[in-house]
Amino acid sequence: MSPDQPQRFEDICSAAIHSIHDEGSLHSHAIPIYATSTFVFDSAEQGMNRFAATEPGYIYSRFANPTTTAAEKLIAALEAFGLKDAGGAALQLKALLHASGQGALSTLCFSLLKSGDIILTNIALYGGTHEFFAYLLAGLGIQTLFIDLSDLDAVEQALRQHPQIRLIHIESPTNPLMGCTDIAAVCKLAVPYGVKVSVDNTFATPYLQQPFALGVDFVYHSTTKFLNGHGTAIGGVLVGKDTDFMNTTATKTFKLLGANANAFDAFLLINGIKTLPLRMRQHSSNAQHVAEWLEAHPAVAKVNYNGLKAHPDYALSARQMRYPGAVLSFELAGGIAAGKQFINRLRMCTRAVSLGTVDTLISHPASMSHAIMKPEERLKAGITDGLIRMSVGIEAVEDILADLEQALSGLPV
Ligand SMILES: *Cc1c(COP(=O)(O)O)cnc(C)c1O
Repeated sequence: MSPDQPQRFEDICSAAIHSIHDEGSLHSHAIPIYATSTFVFDSAEQGMNRFAATEPGYIYSRFANPTTTAAEKLIAALEAFGLKDAGGAALQLKALLHASGQGALSTLCFSLLKSGDIILTNIALYGGTHEFFAYLLAGLGIQTLFIDLSDLDAVEQALRQHPQIRLIHIESPTNPLMGCTDIAAVCKLAVPYGVKVSVDNTFATPYLQQPFALGVDFVYHSTTKFLNGHGTAIGGVLVGKDTDFMNTTATKTFKLLGANANAFDAFLLINGIKTLPLRMRQHSSNAQHVAEWLEAHPAVAKVNYNGLKAHPDYALSARQMRYPGAVLSFELAGGIAAGKQFINRLRMCTRAVSLGTVDTLISHPASMSHAIMKPEERLKAGITDGLIRMSVGIEAVEDILADLEQALSGLPV
């Protein structure tokens, strides 16, 4: 079994299970947890050679660790599944596994950008990403332009007006309105300006969307969500197609930032990914049912789900993604008071932030995930005070609907 031949599987379901194997001499069936900070050298020369990278081998777990490396290879294989490079060979990607999604974003930004550079991105973004750009990077002289990336004329105009733009960052679908960006169209606009494009693929996962097929340079995930799938570890991954850049500048930044993942979390992640395709199919099918059911409910004023024909990005989502995914949001006719009542009445669905776990999670973005944004910025991103977000789980859809039904009963219509 060679992990370096992603093309040999008919379907990505098999790649999720068979792309990696234990490279140790005991042939462990499961990838072992290498709980070690450091690695032993046979000789002084071997240590020198490993540091000089003239000989393969592990040195210190902040740099690399066999369990985290296995998870990196698995995710790279899935993002590259079935894709070819410009020369027609199987696409090779390099992944770096981080302690969180924010860690992966840090390595991307600190390895690519310097003071004076500009990021072009969307108004609606994950709260932590928005704050990372608007607060942390702004303080270091890296500015961010927040525009509507679905307006391709505005993208082109920004690129023309601001030669300092170095990176376009896309989140598609976005949190929590499930707005989509035409990734291929944005990449086409970016190429003549030499601007790199990154995609936060957390909501879609490589099973639902492969941004490298659409021309992007970088993909990152919060692996905390669907890739892990069970809510057992925080994690993130940065994946790049310029393997020279990833192996030199990005790896150096990664080592210096110290935002590496640990072997225990990587083990949980690998186990989660084995069932990723199965889970994403069930998540999406349940979410479609729930969205259609909510849309017809009199107490619900509006449903935001890219799998509904009424969603502005329904057609784009159908073109760009295998299925629309697990996350949706909705507005109750009774506003914020009804929202509180609804959340407090839930019996089975879990009251929690985060998303992508096997159970259905329900949260209130304005007071939770997006509370760090200024209220006017939140509203500009379409996050009203009464909006409720659901990450639809893989329970029996009948049980999810029954819980929603009892929690919604008697609310103002
Ligand atoms: C959770 C999340 C992040 C941040 O990831 P962490 O693992 O919490 O650091 C980034 N983007 C999206 C879309 C997310 O849902």
